[in-house]
Amino acid sequence: MLLPVYTMGGIMELYFGPAGVPNSSPERSTEGGIRHVAGLGLGCMEMQFVRGVKMGETAARAVGKLAKEKGIALSAHGPYYINLNAREREKIAASQERLLHSVRIASLCGARTVVFHAAFYLNDPPDKVYPVVKKNLQEVLNRLRFDQTGVWLRPEVTGKATQFGTLEEVLRLSSELEGVAPCIDFAHLHARTGKFNSYAEFAAILEQTERKLGRAALDNIHIHVSGIKYGEKGEIKHLNMTESDFDYVNFTRALKDFKVKGLVISESPNLEGDALLLQRTYRSLG
Ligand SMILES: [Zn+2]
Repeated sequence: MLLPVYTMGGIMELYFGPAGVPNSSPERSTEGGIRHVAGLGLGCMEMQFVRGVKMGETAARAVGKLAKEKGIALSAHGPYYINLNAREREKIAASQERLLHSVRIASLCGARTVVFHAAFYLNDPPDKVYPVVKKNLQEVLNRLRFDQTGVWLRPEVTGKATQFGTLEEVLRLSSELEGVAPCIDFAHLHARTGKFNSYAEFAAILEQTERKLGRAALDNIHIHVSGIKYGEKGEIKHLNMTESDFDYVNFTRALKDFKVKGLVISESPNLEGDALLLQRTYRSLG
């Protein structure tokens, strides 16, 4: 369920930025990354909590203050060690704690999004996994107050057939749970099937999202993208855009035509290189 659209600095547009501290950043800290992102002329950065949240509360407040000063929108990628379909109750509880902790720290940073990979199927049929993930995610939401944190939990469209997170599953969770919105990973969508690499298919994804969640979803989108190498089982590895087959020109054109607003995070190996390429391409379109 989508709550009212938040605005960043009063102006809501489409921001481009890297997944983590830019490669070319002389300072490797989150704050150094924010300064560098601002210097490059990009608009956002996704903090990587993927190996656990290492940031404390004081540091998070300082990060939030700097991001606001520099006009950089932040999001966070939650830990990889999350499986809301784990067999053991303690693993589910630990996954829920990791999400809660990520949201609390992200909120202190002024971030409005925590992305996460929700679950693995563990060979269970997907229609059995969905209600389990939903219930366990609902328990997390019950312990958060969206009106206090302002943070969206965003299950990601994943890239491997073993991972929960088709576009349909992610949109359905977003429509049924308050405070949940999608992270649409276009590289993963492409890798899962080899499809979704033309203007018509990009447009169809955006249309499907709007149909399911309303216009608010396109006014508050969160996108991951990169070049990608894929095989029978989906994702193999991320590639730089220009070394891959991804049609980023038509991708940016679809974002422009649909007047999509929110964050576009580059997960290419060259991080800021492709964020800049996408931003440049997007701005060059009439
Ligand atoms: Zn991810």
